[in-house]
Amino acid sequence: MRDLPFPDRVPLACTPTPLAYLARTSAVLGVETWIKRDDLTGSVLTGNKVRKLEFLMAEALALGADTVLTCGGEQSNHCRATALAATQLGLASRLLLRTEDPARPPPTGGNILLDRLAGAEIRWISRSEYANRAALLAAEADAVRAAGRVPYVIPEGGSSALGSWGYIAAAAELATDLAALPPRPTTIVYACGSGGTGAGLILGARLLDLAARGVRVAGVNVCDDRAYFTRVIGQICRDFAERWPLGVQIAAEDIDIVDGWVGLGYARSQPAELEVLRDLARREAIVLDPVYTGKAFYGVTRELARDGRRFGERLVFVHTGGVFGLFPAAAELAPLL
Ligand SMILES: *Cc1c(COP(=O)(O)O)cnc(C)c1O
Repeated sequence: MRDLPFPDRVPLACTPTPLAYLARTSAVLGVETWIKRDDLTGSVLTGNKVRKLEFLMAEALALGADTVLTCGGEQSNHCRATALAATQLGLASRLLLRTEDPARPPPTGGNILLDRLAGAEIRWISRSEYANRAALLAAEADAVRAAGRVPYVIPEGGSSALGSWGYIAAAAELATDLAALPPRPTTIVYACGSGGTGAGLILGARLLDLAARGVRVAGVNVCDDRAYFTRVIGQICRDFAERWPLGVQIAAEDIDIVDGWVGLGYARSQPAELEVLRDLARREAIVLDPVYTGKAFYGVTRELARDGRRFGERLVFVHTGGVFGLFPAAAELAPLL
């Protein structure tokens, strides 16, 4: 395998994570099904964001930062992971969390409870303010500097060229695990929310030449649409190529987004999605989250119902975590249990 020039990283994630075969689900879906257990990267500091944060936090420390700033939805897994990682490394954190009415913030449950336990400072912002999140973060950084401290800004989802190294590392783990299996047309499927996981997997697959082994990468978007993510992931890949000239050019047609499964919208569930989440939990003791992995896996089951070979002969679903998003959805789940 090609030696990849990984930037500095701080160890935060428990990796490599296992690639597990799901025999019963393979029978139900009619395709060989595996799951990459990135829900096991830690207990509370867990999920896909931890992989990106290993590289982002290394840069924050190298730049002498003492305060980390980032943003997300009210139940953001990324913000929770950032708050916990910052505290672990002795840094302060300030989170800009989007909510319906900033004057009436949501209850302290799920990820918000963990943000607060980690000691993060939270600023509630409206949907319209969130549209200008880059400017808001820059203004927050100015305020931190004015107070004589050193800020480090992490973009939404940790999705940047540097953060994408986290999923290049995950692609390298998958390459090793898949090399031990009989070669078969394979699709690595992930839930796409801000594009960084997708960019990392696509870049990693290219750097490791996984296509030569019949391995493709496809993302199921849980918000926005294909055009949006083709643009966002394309931009991260261009930024990456500029900062690390390794000869990888990712074209729009290299970015496979399985659109059509956003449903009622970001972080809004439908009973059919929650039923698929429940059924996987009861069949495999693998618990997905309603916002990302549950919605994406629902999309996978529906795509397979239309075309059993949609993902080739082997499906590798990346479980990107998100378990704490389950608890705010308890009332919606209860009637299905
Ligand atoms: C953030 C997140 C995703 C999406 O990853 P992106 O890199 O933001 O596209 C998927 N699953 C979970 C559980 C997440 O928290």
